[in-house]
Amino acid sequence: MLIFRDTSRVQNHLHNLKNIGKTIGFVPTMGSLHDGHISLVKQSLIQTDITVVSIFINPTQFNNIDDLKTYPSDIDKDLKLLSSISDKIIVFNPDPDELYSGGIRLEDFNFNGLDKYMEGEFRKHHFSGVATVVNKLFSFIEADFAYFGEKDFQQLRIIENLIKEKKFKIKLIRCETIRSKDGLALSSRNNKLDFSSKKIATNLFKALNFAKEKIDEISIDEIEQKIWDNLSNFKQIKLEYFVIADEQNLKPIKTIKSSKNRAFIAAYVSGVRLIDNIKLY
Ligand code: AMP
Repeated sequence: MLIFRDTSRVQNHLHNLKNIGKTIGFVPTMGSLHDGHISLVKQSLIQTDITVVSIFINPTQFNNIDDLKTYPSDIDKDLKLLSSISDKIIVFNPDPDELYSGGIRLEDFNFNGLDKYMEGEFRKHHFSGVATVVNKLFSFIEADFAYFGEKDFQQLRIIENLIKEKKFKIKLIRCETIRSKDGLALSSRNNKLDFSSKKIATNLFKALNFAKEKIDEISIDEIEQKIWDNLSNFKQIKLEYFVIADEQNLKPIKTIKSSKNRAFIAAYVSGVRLIDNIKLY
């Protein structure tokens, strides 16, 4: 498995592969890989000749320095895992100075309002950070397809918008959320939870499913109230938001007008911030 740390080298290598007609899939990650990431990698391996997996903890998308410092990381384990899957994987694992050679700075983007709610509201500059790094990566990784998880649905919509705004010739492939048997969405941050906190965290998925079950029976206001009431019973859970929103523009809604809606949740569980969402119909 080839591993690149240098931007121009990976760019040249991929350019040569493109010139001989190879298709390229791209899976951007922050590492500490789990089965959610691997499902994206496997989808890319099926659809393309070469899969580039970037592993980079992007400093500009963290609005909290402690969160950045304690973000889980195990590059040796990640490389071992990827090399056991396929020799058609190329890893790009740059240093921050390599990607941010002009200094660690945020760029400005037009998100067309997609950043107004939920993560955008609670994590200032988070999406500018995400778009800054993805914009850089897309500009020298000449991918045909990029694979993003629905687990981070708002991020996925932000990147779809970025592709359109910047006219990248990359098709984004949406990949479904991979969960543990009890429903907890897989996340690198789950590594920070002990066994009992993981069990408690399944209440976020239960809340989303409650909304799905009740959406035709009671009002959205009532659903939200019941979820706030229920989750407040767990002293380890601090709910940040529970929102039902339009899938396209991500605006929170109070009445159902179309079938394209999702329920979104963010909460601290034992001090670890988790997010999840599901489609309602
Ligand atoms: P991250 O390393 O958390 O930045 O995630 C890298 C990519 O993996 C993003 O497109 C995520 O949406 C996706 N991803 C993370 N967790 C999951 C999951 N449980 N199921 C599917 N995709 C996921």
